[in-house]
Amino acid sequence: MIISSLSAVSLQGGFARELGEMSLPWRADEVADPQLLVLNEPLATELGLDPAALRSPDGLRLLVGNLVPDGATPVAQAYSGHQFGFFNPRLGDGRALLLGELVDPEGRLRDLHLKGSGRTPFARGGDGLAAIGPMLREYVVSEAMHALGIPTTRSLAVVGTGRRVRRETPQPGAVLARVASSHLRVGSFQYARASGDAELLRRLADHAVARHHPGAAAAERPHLALFEAVVAAQASLVAQWMLVGFVHGVMNTDNMTISGESIDYGPCAFMDAFDPAAVYSSIDERGRYAYRNQPVVAEWNLARLAEAMLPLFDEDQERAVQLAEEALGAFGWHYSTAWTTGLRAKLGLRPEHGAEVVSPLAEELFALLHANHVDHTSFFRGLGAAARGDVRPARDLVLDLRAFDDWAGRWRALDPDPGVMDRTNPVYIPRNHLVEEALAAATGGDLDPLGRLLEAVTAPYEERPGLERYAAPAAEDFGPYITYCGT
Ligand code: AMP
Ligand code: MG
Repeated sequence: MIISSLSAVSLQGGFARELGEMSLPWRADEVADPQLLVLNEPLATELGLDPAALRSPDGLRLLVGNLVPDGATPVAQAYSGHQFGFFNPRLGDGRALLLGELVDPEGRLRDLHLKGSGRTPFARGGDGLAAIGPMLREYVVSEAMHALGIPTTRSLAVVGTGRRVRRETPQPGAVLARVASSHLRVGSFQYARASGDAELLRRLADHAVARHHPGAAAAERPHLALFEAVVAAQASLVAQWMLVGFVHGVMNTDNMTISGESIDYGPCAFMDAFDPAAVYSSIDERGRYAYRNQPVVAEWNLARLAEAMLPLFDEDQERAVQLAEEALGAFGWHYSTAWTTGLRAKLGLRPEHGAEVVSPLAEELFALLHANHVDHTSFFRGLGAAARGDVRPARDLVLDLRAFDDWAGRWRALDPDPGVMDRTNPVYIPRNHLVEEALAAATGGDLDPLGRLLEAVTAPYEERPGLERYAAPAAEDFGPYITYCGT
């Protein structure tokens, strides 16, 4: 059923009600003249919301948090987090609000959340605001991720506030309306644990089981089963990032979900030339969150989750530690299974090609791509043509032709399936230079480049005439790409 009247939109306040100790009732700043910059119509429909109603003046007020449906209780959520390895007990939504949970037509609970809606008591030194560039970046990248089939929070709309936001230069302000299967983070558990309230920690875990991993409720140790499910979901998620060359940029424990969805797209980027050391964030000077480190960091973050959940695993501390270690020990298996399965598809290989065939072939290929500075996305897509007999699109990207021919000969002898490859290797990703171009234009008032970029990246596997420039790497003069945390 589509709700065509906004007065019928109903938001539950399950998190606010069940976890009051972690919720501060709060209201969004008033936006005098909200201007819709982009609306995700397919997502609105999926949520049972009428896009036309969302475009109306009341719809825009809903999307910036100024129209609060009857019975809804918007809250700022409290959480802690390890930021670049250092624990901060009090982070929380400094510029965000959970408006409440929607029940979509399939009966699933989806958080409706705002980013850039004004200062909250968690704002610390921040202004509580967001500039349109970073909010549109999150919109583009999260929707591209979704279209790639990778679990992620979604973006429903970006609405301009007409307010100036102070950054390095003054920027127009915006609010992002975001949808997620929840906003529970590793940092949420760290907060509950650090509060010293054992009953709160238990309630949070029960809430997470019910919401994300209901199967865990029937396990002998439901909270251990929850932890195991998070380990499996995160291992699979990070493997999928690695397979498309995505660098999240800020894998702090407050930016890692319990659901296994990607969240909080800040200084993130897809790599162009394959480089294991790729890092794009201006504040990540030591490369803690570089491409190749992401699996290790995910495991490290999950160890922090285990520490936070320890009292839930067993009354006996030693036994609890042992159970946590065993559960975390499965990360490597989950990760390598997801990684190998993904590589097998990227290379068009078949189920009978086990890890002993796929892994060495892929490792050798990655070394070749790295040494030759080959564009990751174009190469894998081009390899699909090679599986059909035309090696040029892939071969032309490599300088060391002898090494390529040697590798490709052995790979083609395995009879790769180009159909599988075309469904696995995207043509279009949100390339950094295209994202920058679209954000700069939108900041200046021209939304056309953003629309075209979205058109390309929301159907990433379907090559279309006219979109050639969206499939090509940046010109050499684009230079090394850095994104700033002035989000
Ligand atoms: P992030 O790195 O975007 O995930 O944010 C980390 C923390 O900083 C969270 O607690 C955010 O709510 C907070 N934060 C980020 N930017 C702002 C801002 N402009 N105003 C207030 N809080 C902010
Ligand atoms: Mg965050």
